[in-house]
Amino acid sequence: MSTLLIRNGTIVTATDLYKGDVFVDGDRISTIGTALTMPADRSIDAAGKYVLPGGIDVHTHLDMPFGGTNSADDFESGTIAAAHGGTTTIVDFAIQYKGQTLHHAWETWMQKAEGKAVIDYGFHMIITELSDQVEQEMDALVRQGVTSFKLFMAYPGVFMLDDASIFRALLRTGQNGGTICMHAENGGVIDVLVKKALAEGKTAPKYHALTRPARAEGEATHRAIALAEMAGVPIYIVHLSAAEALEMVTEARDRGLAAYAETCPQYLFLSYDNYEEPGFEGAKYVMSPPLRPRETQDRLWRGLAFNDLQAISTDHCPFCMKEQKEMGSGDFSKIPNGAPGIETRMSLVYDGGVRTGRISLNRFVELTSTSPAKIFGLFPRKGTIAPGSDADMVIFDPNRSMRLGAQTLHMKVDYNPYEGREVTGVTDTVISRGKVIVDGETFTGRAGAGSFLKRSTR
Ligand SMILES: [Zn+2]
Repeated sequence: MSTLLIRNGTIVTATDLYKGDVFVDGDRISTIGTALTMPADRSIDAAGKYVLPGGIDVHTHLDMPFGGTNSADDFESGTIAAAHGGTTTIVDFAIQYKGQTLHHAWETWMQKAEGKAVIDYGFHMIITELSDQVEQEMDALVRQGVTSFKLFMAYPGVFMLDDASIFRALLRTGQNGGTICMHAENGGVIDVLVKKALAEGKTAPKYHALTRPARAEGEATHRAIALAEMAGVPIYIVHLSAAEALEMVTEARDRGLAAYAETCPQYLFLSYDNYEEPGFEGAKYVMSPPLRPRETQDRLWRGLAFNDLQAISTDHCPFCMKEQKEMGSGDFSKIPNGAPGIETRMSLVYDGGVRTGRISLNRFVELTSTSPAKIFGLFPRKGTIAPGSDADMVIFDPNRSMRLGAQTLHMKVDYNPYEGREVTGVTDTVISRGKVIVDGETFTGRAGAGSFLKRSTR
């Protein structure tokens, strides 16, 4: 067991802001104070920098099969990139394919992560087929620490569940304490619009966005919340992108319902305009839900500031332009859905949120770490700086700038949606369970050092 002393930093949690020292013994935070003098194996001077709880990204897709290819980052490259960006915990998605048990899916994804992940990880379970047996398996998984399930209202024939199955799954979480995460888009409407566009010869990337109306997200968000209300359980809407959907969450919360939602940096910093980039460039931004009109960004920032949105995750699901996105060069519906983001979340949100005054420094920590930890059963082990919590911390330099680009970032993908954008506020040192895993520009961690996190219930 080794010890680490972080001195003279400005410690920031969701509620606190003060100058102090943090003493780490083994993999946990042991003591917080001022002018701590205990001897340590290593001492880091954090003067002029913030000491933040490690980032928690509860929406990633590493090594995920999609349309005959796999997302470009596996659990090693993806978690190394996450670490460089100041994220020390991810919750990824295991997928139950039709005809398979949930247990089989969980084992498959555990194997993908084992020996590779450099930071701690948990799993949500995607359910694509619900039977009596699957319902019983939900209970078993919750006991094993997989306490959240993702359901789809989109992608008919692949992932989409009907309302009856969704309602049954919601009711089950009322008994087993799990949480339902919902991909809320009206898949039936979208399917019709996609077929119609293709029949009219509209094949360019921008038609991905034009066939997924904001109202399709608003409608599904409303329906998801109504189903959860009738089941008497909480619900969490993933990757909320549209003002129409935010209105539904806000209205539900105003009525006192336990409706939660996350948004992602791409919806805060990019917009529909990106699909109008020349040639096939728009494919870089093909993701679901799609990027929305630029005006939506202000609405989302307001939702984050006023707690109608409780988390910022990435939906990191990278596909290279070469050979992967290219599969849809003659048909937008064949472009793999997803974009890279696991490494850029903290700096983008700090730069575009805190520095501009849209959210406070404490709210930044809450949205990127504390609140996702609480919603998904990781708090107080993760998501704060406190004695007894895991020593997952980021020493963050608020004054240093960097230019984002595919060449310098660590994600294994041949483009970056924010190419050339300069951000101020950069990760300096990253500590995962007491060990320094990123030291300046250098990765000093180890593949396989990350552990599976058994998460608790509500
Ligand atoms: Zn996703």
